[in-house]
Amino acid sequence: MDPAVEGLRFQCQPGCTACCEVNGFVYLGPGDVARAAAFLKMDPTEFERQFVYRTRHRTRLRKPGDGRQCHFLRDGGCSIHPAKPTQCRLFPFWPELVDDRKAWRRTAAHCPGIGQGPLVQIGTAKQLSAEMETAYPAIYLSFGGSA
Ligand code: SF4
Ligand code: SF4
Repeated sequence: MDPAVEGLRFQCQPGCTACCEVNGFVYLGPGDVARAAAFLKMDPTEFERQFVYRTRHRTRLRKPGDGRQCHFLRDGGCSIHPAKPTQCRLFPFWPELVDDRKAWRRTAAHCPGIGQGPLVQIGTAKQLSAEMETAYPAIYLSFGGSA
């Protein structure tokens, strides 16, 4: 079978933090605030006050305001890695990348893990991307797949 149909090759690269430094927003899905707050042993309300920005349809992490993209990127890694938001955990298996091979290949310019490591079966990749759609209905239902 054509490898491009069979699956997608990906392995996150040790020491890389490129996707945490891209200019963009980290949206929060169900349970993300509670998980991160518990990991940091913080009251969820206090976590919200410090780190979360809400609009009517979106909930996202605040940016530090000093040019960095994320409060939690420290010492070359994610300081809340075991409890990181859904969007971070699932990257690069986002619907707009899994369903568009050109977009997947373009993203390889920013993510050195794309094209490396074992082949992830397409069914598994699609399961992961479906998790994104479930976690962020306001994004995927309103804009048809743009995160
Ligand atoms: S850019 Fe890719 S390889 Fe680098 S940390 Fe993110 S997912 Fe891993
Ligand atoms: S929460 Fe962690 S994984 Fe997500 S952008 Fe911030 S540092 Fe990176």
